[in-house]
This record gives sequence, C-alpha cells and structure tokens, in this order.
Amino acid sequence: MKKFVLLWVALHGLFALCAQDELITHYESSGYLETPRYNETIAYCKKLDEASDKIFYTSFGVSPQGRALPLLIVDKDGLTTPETIREAGRIVLLVECCIHPGEPEGKDALLMLVRDLAVRGLHAEALNGVSLLVIPIFNVDGHERFSAYNRINQNGPKEMGWRVTAQNYNLNRDFLKADAPEMQQWLALYTHWLPEFFIDCHTTDGADYQYVITYALETFGNMDPGITQWLTDTYEPALVDRMFGSGFPVFRYVSFRQWHNPKSGLRTSASPPMLSQGYTAIQNRPGLLIETHMLKPYQPRVESTYGMVLHTLNILNAEKNNLTTAIQQADQWCTSDAVKDKKLPIAFRNDWSDSTMVEFLGVEYREKRSELTSGVWYEYDSTKPVTFTLPMFEKVKVEKEIRMPTAYLVPVEWSEIIEKIIAHGIEYEVLDQDTEYEISGYRFRAPEWYATPYENHMRIRDVEVEEITGRRVFPAGSLYIPMCQRAAKVVAFLLEPEADGSLFSWGFFNSIFEQKEYSETYVMEPMALKMLREDPALQEAFEARKKKQPDWVNNQWEVMNWFYGRSLWADPKLRVYPVGRLY
Ligand SMILES: [Zn+2]
Repeated sequence: MKKFVLLWVALHGLFALCAQDELITHYESSGYLETPRYNETIAYCKKLDEASDKIFYTSFGVSPQGRALPLLIVDKDGLTTPETIREAGRIVLLVECCIHPGEPEGKDALLMLVRDLAVRGLHAEALNGVSLLVIPIFNVDGHERFSAYNRINQNGPKEMGWRVTAQNYNLNRDFLKADAPEMQQWLALYTHWLPEFFIDCHTTDGADYQYVITYALETFGNMDPGITQWLTDTYEPALVDRMFGSGFPVFRYVSFRQWHNPKSGLRTSASPPMLSQGYTAIQNRPGLLIETHMLKPYQPRVESTYGMVLHTLNILNAEKNNLTTAIQQADQWCTSDAVKDKKLPIAFRNDWSDSTMVEFLGVEYREKRSELTSGVWYEYDSTKPVTFTLPMFEKVKVEKEIRMPTAYLVPVEWSEIIEKIIAHGIEYEVLDQDTEYEISGYRFRAPEWYATPYENHMRIRDVEVEEITGRRVFPAGSLYIPMCQRAAKVVAFLLEPEADGSLFSWGFFNSIFEQKEYSETYVMEPMALKMLREDPALQEAFEARKKKQPDWVNNQWEVMNWFYGRSLWADPKLRVYPVGRLY
C-alpha cells in the first residue's frame, strides 16, 4: 500500500511538473526570440483556463476575417462579470496587447503573467483587490499577416504581425470614430466593464536612447483633475520607483522637438481621444500607454512590459480605495446646476513658450550628410551611453473650449452618427414625435480638405465656424443627448466640430458641403440686378467682395452662384451643421 502511495505521489508530482511544462509559453521555449501565432495563442489561453479556476477564457467578438477576439478574465474567486467582481470589492485592470500586432511584447508578457499569478501562485496577493482582463491580441487579422519583414526598425521577435487590420484600419486611431468592427466590439466590452485602469502595450519607432521602456499618462488637463492628481502624485512616482528597482529606468514617452534630433529638446502632449489612453481619459478612466524601445532585444522588452503591468497591479491593489473614490467623484460630476456655464476644453496644443530642463539617458550620435539626398541623418552609437540635459516641453494649453450645452440633438436621418454615439455607451433619449426646439448650431464657411485619405476619410483641414441660433424641427426618432451624464466629455468630443478628432473633422458630415441646386445665368442675371437695386446692404457686400478679389468678376459661375446663395431659392441647410445644441 505504501508503495502505491509513493508511486501515486511520484506520478502526481510528475503530472504536475508536466502540466507546468505544458504551460511554458512559445516565447520562453523559443529562447525568448519568437512570438506565437493566433491559433497557438488561443490554444494556450484555453490551457490556462483549464489549469486554473481563476482564469476564464472567452471572446468579445469576431473580426472581419472571422477570428474570435480573445479575452482572459482573471479573478481570484473565478468571477467573470463586472457586477460580481465589484460586489466582491475588487477593481478591474484591462490590459490590451497587439492592437499593433507588430508590437507583441504585451501578448508574450501577459500570457506569462496570467500563468504566474493564477496557476503558479506568484505575486498572487495582487489579485486580492484587482481582477485582470487581458486582450492578448486585439487586431487578430493583422496579427496573422505574419512576416519577418513587418517592422524594419525592430530588433525581434523573429516574425510578427502587421500594424493594421484586414480592412487597413489602424485601430489606434479608431477609438472615437469606431469604423472598424473590432473597435465597435471593443467599445461594447469597455463600456460594459468600465475598467478602473487600462494599459495599452506598444513598441515605439524613432531615435535611439538607453530606456528599454517608456510610458505615457494623460496628465495635461484632458482628464478629470482628481484622477489626474492621483496619477501624478501617487501612481507615477510609485511606478517609476518600482521600475527603477527592477533594473528598468523609465521616462515619459517623448519625441524630439525636431525629428530624430535629441538636442532640439523633448516634447510630450495630450493624446486626442482617437488614441487609446486619450479615449479612456474622456471616459474618466486612467490609461497607461507602454512603449518599449524597438532597438532593444526582444527579451528585455517583454520583461519590462511584464514588470510594468505587475507593478501597476500591485500599486492598484494598494491604492484601490483612493482610485475608486477619484473615479466616483469624476463620474458624478454633474449635480443639478453643474452644466450651466461649464467650460469644457475640446482641443489641446503644446505650449512652446515654456520648458523645464531634464536629464535624459541618451546615446552618442552624430549627424551625417545624406549621400543620396540633401538631408541629414543621425547615426546612433548604442555602446556609448550619454546623459543629456535637455529642455522638456510638456506644458499643454487649451486651444479650444466650449460652453457646455444642456443637451445635443441629432436628427434621426444621421443614422451612422447615431450608431456611433450609441456604441460609446452614452445615455440618450429618442424623440417620440417631431419636436421643435430653439437651438444653437453652426454654419461653416471656406472648408478645405486634406488632399489624400487618412484612415479611409477625407478629413477637413480647415474651416471657418460661425455660431447660429434659430428654431428647428427634429423628427421623431432623433436623439436627445443630455449632457448631465457621466460620459459628457465623450459626447462633446464626438459632436463638437472643432474637438480633436470629432466626427465632423473626420469628414462624416462632408455631404453638407455639397450644393445640390443651381441657377442658370439667364435666370440669375436679371434677378441679381433686381436684388442689387432693392437691397443696399447687398450692394455693399458685392462691392466688398469684388474689392477683396478684383478678378472675381471674371468667374461668371461663381458670381452668379454668389447671388443665388443670397436669394430665396438658396438651400438653407447648405453648410449648416445638422446637430443642434440646447442651452
Ligand atoms: Zn504601436
């Protein structure tokens, strides 16, 4: 009998060891040089699910090429819904990997971290207060465009996925406009869970320097002040300290003021909400952007990503209550009178008038004259570390702010816009009958577009915006969106034409610039003369227009159309924003 017991113990130990071995990741077994394909990643996620009650594998949607969008839910009690997890007193950290599949450190780091936390029991105390959601691959179709030649600057892994989706969308420009089916499904996941903290894992291109890993946080006035203060006073110092302790000195994710030239100074700025952490900021949720450095070997890039997520998990575990309080205060910003006269910044720019001197761990470099062009290029020598003292431009100013309306109105016929608004988890009402409102709106002049498409859109480069008021009927089915709601900033960024990355700026309203009716010269010439005789103000405007551009009168079509546009036959909806604002 004893022998049997011993044998059983020995076998059990062996099985346990095999089970552990089975959970060696592809990245580890390849000697830290390779990253697994989609199918292998999914198979591994399922194995994790089988190996621990704390891990649940599921998917949050399907890609245009038919692949499941994978999600791992890690909770110490095996809970799998936001309601039960919040009820158990835990907060949620969402980590997103491979939004750019050429940058797969997050996937390899997180597969190991989930295993270590939930199967091996390492650092498991971090799960006491925090549950972890992991998207190991977000851009699943792009991930399978696998090649060694996808990232020319990058030092491994041996092969990797492609930056954009099968439909050629860059998902990290799509958070607000949500064109890609993958993003629409991500938004459903995000607004359902509203994770208290979000991490997006990337690899940066650009100049050489010593840091293996850099990071960005939205602390420029584009997020609620209470959460911003928690980030700058508590989270960031703790993170920097712990990363330093793990052997990874870190710095804010910066670019050089002049392309590739360190001596020109460093700059960082508020991220618009088309980018991941810029988006979570306007949802009142802090987000961390991780950017490992592409010239470093793959292993330290994965290890530093692992470290940054684990440190964040530990900080969140300790700071759960403070962060929750800050988020609740941000979410409950709207009391009875809060909307009235509230100013809301909707566009930010670098303030170049002010900088602070910082120490930056760079490498020696020299400027070389190009033999093929008239340009210069920079040759870096990573074997020669140098500490530069450089000006850091990190002051950001508000370029545009609005007086917050009490509500927006979106006419029922703008169905694509309505779908997008709903995708962001925004509160709204649907008008059950045609309703007339006294609204504030916009009329546009002198629109100009970029010459080439960007992310499948002909974007507006410049336009003059005039505020107008008047009565307008909104048909039954139109959306009434009150601004006294948690996600008011998301509404404003979607619908204010001059907001960074608004739907208007992407060209979703381009059709309002198309004139659909015209006049013939034989109708317009006599009518124009009559209009001039009867209206001295029009005569004055006509003279002013001619003075502004003397050869204008030679363009008969434009001159006649100028009068047509001021006649009773002109289209009152031309260049008028269909969205209304209530004050
Ligand atoms: Zn990236």
